[in-house]
Amino acid sequence: MISAQEALKILYEGNHRFVSGVSNSNVLTNQARRHELMAVQEPFAIILGCSDSRAPAEIVFDRGLGDLFVIRVAGNIVAPSQIGSVEFAAENFGTRLVVVMGHSKCGAVLATLEELRHETKEKSQNLCSIIDHIRPSIDMLPGAELGDYSDSFIQQAVRANICASVTHLQQGSEVLEQLIKKDGLIIVGAEYSLETGIVDFFDKVP
Ligand SMILES: [Zn+2]
Repeated sequence: MISAQEALKILYEGNHRFVSGVSNSNVLTNQARRHELMAVQEPFAIILGCSDSRAPAEIVFDRGLGDLFVIRVAGNIVAPSQIGSVEFAAENFGTRLVVVMGHSKCGAVLATLEELRHETKEKSQNLCSIIDHIRPSIDMLPGAELGDYSDSFIQQAVRANICASVTHLQQGSEVLEQLIKKDGLIIVGAEYSLETGIVDFFDKVP
């Protein structure tokens, strides 16, 4: 299995191809690769991303079948089932890189800001549970109480939410803590820009 640093480099290079418009577009539908993967998978990265239709991990990293273990949920939040999914992949496939990938103009973050401004109509309990996960990291931002949210505040909110999910994964699981301490697991945050297509990793890419 490749190291977290190598995996980060592969993702970075794949995103560069995606942005440059030189994707390996045949990889996703390659039948030979599909046959190779029938018995076994060895994804080199775990991606916890948002469900937003504009931020699909395989496409923005220009990767194909069997490469990425992807967990998608609105607002890239961390609840027990997301932690369990990351633990499953890290333990069973030896995957050593986890990326929490949020994105600009995230609807779940915007819905949380609306909630902070008390602007919205009644939401279902289920949707509220997503907002409840996002809200604490935004509440801590300077100016959150003012309710006048500039584009730069929204970007800060997106990033704060990504960082909160990274911290939650790093500290919310005994299994992952041990893998981080003893086995080279790395959990990093990243923001995908809907505008440019670029994934900005919060940690340095080798
Ligand atoms: Zn989103």
